[in-house]
Amino acid sequence: MAKRKKPHFKRVCLIGIGLIGSSLARVMRRDGLADHIVACARKAETLETVTRLGLADSVTSDLVEAVAGADLVIICTPIGAYDAIGRAIGPALSPGCIVSDVGSVKQAVIDALSPHLPDNVHLVPGHPIAGTEHSGPESGFETLFEGRWALLTPPAGTDRKAVEKIADLWRSAGSRIEIMDPVHHDQVLAITSHIPHLIAYTIVGTATDLEDHLKSEVIKYSAGGFRDFTRIAASDPVMWRDVFLNNRDAVLEMLGRFSEDLAKLQRAIRVGDGDAMEELFTRTREIRRGVVEAQQHVPPMPQDD
Ligand code: NAP
Repeated sequence: MAKRKKPHFKRVCLIGIGLIGSSLARVMRRDGLADHIVACARKAETLETVTRLGLADSVTSDLVEAVAGADLVIICTPIGAYDAIGRAIGPALSPGCIVSDVGSVKQAVIDALSPHLPDNVHLVPGHPIAGTEHSGPESGFETLFEGRWALLTPPAGTDRKAVEKIADLWRSAGSRIEIMDPVHHDQVLAITSHIPHLIAYTIVGTATDLEDHLKSEVIKYSAGGFRDFTRIAASDPVMWRDVFLNNRDAVLEMLGRFSEDLAKLQRAIRVGDGDAMEELFTRTREIRRGVVEAQQHVPPMPQDD
């Protein structure tokens, strides 16, 4: 893992402080990376929880007040809110400020934020490949990003020092860094994250539509594989709605390929082609070995049953 150089910020503004934002706040608190952290959220209840947990030095629901004087702003809300947030904060940002984010789609984030940001601020979009199905400031924890990738997608010409500072922030959180083209990011994540979530939402939805007597059996015997899908399908509905709305092309492309492969498997089952099935299942087993060797298999989260 790359050496952890600790970055330092005077005033960090976290816009959105749920699972990801609060986990970052915990890392910054633990490592003393900021003189002052201001947390911004819409609900009074969220801000009260942040204060009770000591995650920030100040809290506000006012976006302009939140970013005033900040040398780092990190947007940690669902992606659908970015346009309105960018519009509100753009004129209030200090010269030299770095604006970053944690959104799960990257080209749409650049398209939403860039028009609103003045030339004298640095946009360094980011995406931690880490998470759980839980939401809100109480669900965060400081080790969430340990050993996970943080993908950075700075637009061409972005100030290198700003990119390096954000990379150092994620290294402090224990992440490995990769700089990536945003469109490439969106294609890769479509197949590694977005389609798997779509499949989980679909299969759990299909089970929900079963007749009552079957439905109760599904829940009773869920350890047969269904349980893992229910965990993924318990992920935040608004966040995932925004992922699919903002990565439409890449998701539809990968979904097309997936549907073709599913049709092939359906045919193999109908015609009794055991060889075709065995060949596929042997290949997929190799992929799992690769994932484990790359240390990207997730050990059970503390919140998991
Ligand atoms: P979360 O726990 O639901 O927290 C979302 C935060 O954003 C809350 O503080 C919420 O404030 C605020 N917020 C929501 N809608 C808003 C709006 N329209 N305007 C202003 N603030 C708003 O979400 P999360 O899981 O941390 O996800 C945040 C971002 O991280 C998303 O863009 C997601 O794509 C990305 N991400 C998530 C994961 C994951 O596994 N969860 C992993 C990697 C990246 P209130 O409480 O006041 O509503």
